[in-house]
Amino acid sequence: MTAPRQNLLNMLCNLGDLSRLAINSQNIEDFLQGVVSLISDHLNIPVCSIYLYDDSTDEFVLRATVVSPPDTVMADASDTGAEKDLRIPDSPYFSEAADSFGGSSLTVPINRGVDKIGKLVVQHTVPDFFDSAVFMALNAISAQLAAALESARVVMGLQQLCENPETLPVSPVTISGDPTSGGYAMGLSAVWGKSHVRFITDPELPEHGTLTDFHQAIQKTTEQLDALQKRCAERLPENASLIFSAHFMILKDPEFVDRMAEKIRSGTPATRAVQNVAQHYIHRFNNSPSSYIREKVNDIEDLSGRLLGNLMPPDHDVGDMDSHGRVVIAHTLYPSELLKLGAESVAGIVLVDGCVTSHAAIIARSLKIPMVMAKRPDLINLEEGTVILVDGDSGNIHVAPPASLVDDFKARARSRQSCGEGPVFGSGTSTVTLDGTDITLYANINLLTELPLAEKVGADGIGLYRTEFPFLMRPSFPSETEQYLIYRQVSASMTGKPVIFRTLDIGGEKTVTYANTEAEANPELGLRSIRFTLKHRDIFEQQIRAILRAAADNEMLGIMFPLISSIDDFRRAKQVVQSCLDRLQREKLKYHHRPFVGMMIELPAVVETMPEYAAECDFFSIGTNDFVQYMLAVDRSNKQVADYYRHEHPSVLRALSRIVRIAADHDKPICICGEMAHDKAMIPFLLGIGLRRLSIDPQFIPAVRDTITRLTLDDCQTYAQDLLTTGSIVSVQAVFQQYATLFR
Ligand code: PEP
Ligand code: MG
Repeated sequence: MTAPRQNLLNMLCNLGDLSRLAINSQNIEDFLQGVVSLISDHLNIPVCSIYLYDDSTDEFVLRATVVSPPDTVMADASDTGAEKDLRIPDSPYFSEAADSFGGSSLTVPINRGVDKIGKLVVQHTVPDFFDSAVFMALNAISAQLAAALESARVVMGLQQLCENPETLPVSPVTISGDPTSGGYAMGLSAVWGKSHVRFITDPELPEHGTLTDFHQAIQKTTEQLDALQKRCAERLPENASLIFSAHFMILKDPEFVDRMAEKIRSGTPATRAVQNVAQHYIHRFNNSPSSYIREKVNDIEDLSGRLLGNLMPPDHDVGDMDSHGRVVIAHTLYPSELLKLGAESVAGIVLVDGCVTSHAAIIARSLKIPMVMAKRPDLINLEEGTVILVDGDSGNIHVAPPASLVDDFKARARSRQSCGEGPVFGSGTSTVTLDGTDITLYANINLLTELPLAEKVGADGIGLYRTEFPFLMRPSFPSETEQYLIYRQVSASMTGKPVIFRTLDIGGEKTVTYANTEAEANPELGLRSIRFTLKHRDIFEQQIRAILRAAADNEMLGIMFPLISSIDDFRRAKQVVQSCLDRLQREKLKYHHRPFVGMMIELPAVVETMPEYAAECDFFSIGTNDFVQYMLAVDRSNKQVADYYRHEHPSVLRALSRIVRIAADHDKPICICGEMAHDKAMIPFLLGIGLRRLSIDPQFIPAVRDTITRLTLDDCQTYAQDLLTTGSIVSVQAVFQQYATLFR
């Protein structure tokens, strides 16, 4: 005996009943009860129940059940939800021969996307009552119910709400994450964006302050910003004092300050006056069609928050105005935000989203800020001011660490210091394999402060200077002269050695809001990098001129274009260099007359046409960070797909081998400058396929040199051969294992 077909049809056709129920029900319980009665009536099923899923306990909770007629009750309905009762050969949802009670039961999950919402359970005294037609009908209902029940769970408190998070209890705990930037840092926690900015929206803000207090607060704010700027100039000389210039301008804006003063004069307490005017501007800017103006909201918030903090009554706890000495916890950080944190001398960073190959990670290393990435969004709810110890070497985050652990770390830091800050091994300047092959180790440079380290570790030159960093720090495009002054320092740091300037690589996650580009759905596939500069030729030309002038005395100047996808783009970019050379000659300025012009290989599209490029460019550099991203279609900064981002993927390995072979066939110098080049398991592979130049963060140079001096080319070639004949990631990893002892 099975459910009558006509009833099933009615059921499917009358899903409208459900919406009527939703409208007419008094409350959620009423609605759920109505749903189970509706199903029971239509399908003539004696028992029907709805369970909702409780996130916090990972259990299904019975919320509504109907049992009719009473004599058909087979078991306590609340027991029927147990998955173990629901086994049937054809489908995991059918109960085999109705189990213990001799009837039958069927469970249909209610999901919304991949999230569990609840389940629908029906039971009958007759064995084999439910067939696939009933199953399909109930599935159709469960799909309709999912959205409504999701709200029911929220109302019933069964779903954890992110909007109103509980503060995480502070108890000693160690959380493991990905080590992203080495070193350790201990400090009080601060959630990014939650500090003084909170005053602007605080409805309970103390009503306090006279006009004199207001003027004193302005003075104090100016002094704080001035101190911040000085620290910034020390840590980020290429930025000089520009990060906070917008703040100064606003402080000097008569409209902004006078509006506040006017309100205070007419009797409004100073705190309230500042809050009102700040809110007014924030609202106005937020509604601007220009993304650049909208971005200015951050400056207004930061500045007004500071002003309010300085206006608070003396007994009011204001907390820190900036991230100095703090361990900042954030979801993600844009490169520009990270640079600002660096200027504020943040102690350490915990990112609860993002990936180790993202630009944020690269900058943290350049700024020497210990950083760990951990997929723990709940850390955002940690009480502000909790002691956190970030171990950027192991990836551990110690929340409220016990005294013994703190002592351990302090001892470690002391011993590091006594060994000197510099490299403790392999600090010679030549890099030669065991069997006598010279390997060139260039430095990747992002910030001027890294130049002394590059020199100290004996870098053979600069293989990649990422010119976009000064652009990311500023509120507008740096002029040719500003660029010239920065590039001159880069070029001068490596007398007699090659220095390769990579032209502006903005776009993607490296956004500069002042560029005022349109929002893009897929920025990594959009107006990024060379595409941006080719479109904005004036900006491109200014940069090329600045490079040519700044490195006039450098014999081995290289200019390298990023994200080249066709020979046509390469030719266009090279043409820009030529026209800059011609103009500089006409202007009779001092400039470099014959730079080497090369390109990055970051897109798989280049591989097929390499001979064409080889005929026209002076050198190649493989940017594996992007090459892997584009070859495997994996966003390099998306934590959700981080497991797919694998530079050891067999397709990547084979493509690299091919690239290096073609470059050798055409006698073109080739280097690798992606993060892969300092991975210990990859170094012998890279040498094995014929690479002889690696460009890496200067801090990794001693370790990479040390690794290389223990290798023989024979071993590297055999290793590379084994990896290249391997077709899966798992077997690549098996080869790593097999060679682990040899390359230890
Ligand atoms: C790369 O893509 O490998 C590279 C070195 O460039 P960036 O990391 O700056 O994108
Ligand atoms: Mg790149």
